[in-house]
Amino acid sequence: MINYPKKLDFIFDKLYNYNALPILVGGFIRDKILGLNSKDIDIEIYGISSFSKLEELLEEFGSVNSVGKSFGVCKLHYEGYDLDFSFPRVDNKNNIGHRGFQIEINPNLDFKTAASRRDFTINAIGYDVKNKILLDPFNGLVDLKNKILRVVNEDSFIEDPLRVLRAAQFCGRFELSIDKKLFELCKDMVSNQLLNELPKERIFEEIKKLVLKSNRPSIGFELLKKFGTNIYTSNIYILDEISKQLTTNSATNTVLMLAALCFDYNDKQATYFIQNLTNEKELLNRVLPLIKNHNKINEIFNSNIDNYKLYKLATEVKIEELLILSSAIYFTKNSSNIYEAGDAIYKRAKELNILKEKLPPLLKGKDILNFKIKPSPEFSKILDDAYEAQMSCEFTTRNGAIVWLKKYLKLSKEIKV
Ligand code: ATP
Ligand code: MG
Repeated sequence: MINYPKKLDFIFDKLYNYNALPILVGGFIRDKILGLNSKDIDIEIYGISSFSKLEELLEEFGSVNSVGKSFGVCKLHYEGYDLDFSFPRVDNKNNIGHRGFQIEINPNLDFKTAASRRDFTINAIGYDVKNKILLDPFNGLVDLKNKILRVVNEDSFIEDPLRVLRAAQFCGRFELSIDKKLFELCKDMVSNQLLNELPKERIFEEIKKLVLKSNRPSIGFELLKKFGTNIYTSNIYILDEISKQLTTNSATNTVLMLAALCFDYNDKQATYFIQNLTNEKELLNRVLPLIKNHNKINEIFNSNIDNYKLYKLATEVKIEELLILSSAIYFTKNSSNIYEAGDAIYKRAKELNILKEKLPPLLKGKDILNFKIKPSPEFSKILDDAYEAQMSCEFTTRNGAIVWLKKYLKLSKEIKV
């Protein structure tokens, strides 16, 4: 018996009235069996085959998004759940890549035939909500219990290269061991360079799931290495430490994971590694400063925690994020469970209020305008000098900043004369 959200019965009851039979399948069922809750639910609809009929039936429950029309997928956001409705189908390979399939929808397929297009046995378990029956044609339950990732269909597995990444991702995420046949298939697919058929965004989606949803992402990266891909570094064990300190923000977590993967690379090497995975400039721009400053926590601690240096560091990175990276590196390399430098820097940065952001500048552009100086390159030099002075504690208040500016302007006038 699978405990699905009871609110879905409103939808299911309507479907029964039109002789449609919903079968829950995929990640939602797998996660339920593992005792995990998921907000994404895949529902296969048997008995009807008209896409517009399905849309029409679902419309009263919310706005239906049929972006996946060519794949016969209809999305509905309902009561906090993301529902993906699809029809039973057979996929016929007709082109290269992850999407190179011609699909054949058949409302009367039996569950096993429809499920044979799925990747792994643990993802091919269904639940017939009307008859309350678990459908497990490929013995996914046993594999889940024994923690084994096994392929559903050995002949068609190689037709989608994304499955190599999915294999590593699921092994990492659920700490599964990989079945020998599946391992060989993945290795062959890599050596036949099938991964080149994938857009990097699709690869990165799986890498993100691996790093964000695993307690031990290194398991997945070890596999990627053994498969023969170049998606790993010698720092993969640091990821396991990062995953103990994840923030609530997934973009930040992705940044931290990428920074950990290549913390000891120079700018050029790190850029190359990251651009192989994603074109997202914002991510790269956040990762590079963390890498560049990865050793600053130790350096500043060893020089008796100079406030100026800490203020300066806060202009380059979020100290809070750097502390996560630094401590993960430290804990990976040392057996101690105390990171003295990290604790001391955390304490000081907190006192200075610069854990999350840099020191807010006291002197503003408008203060300079008040002295009848027009905006010019000189202007930003004054602001930079003022900020340097503030970081060196030459002033700590707005008034102090104005006094500093008067002196500064007087002096620069004298120098000019
Ligand atoms: P997650 O929790 O990451 O969403 P999931 O198993 O639900 O895991 P999805 O990508 O949402 O993964 O896909 C839903 C289901 O569709 C999978 O469980 C699997 O049965 C099937 N599936 C998805 N991608 C593939 C693929 N590339 N090849 C074969 N089957 C796939
Ligand atoms: Mg899913």
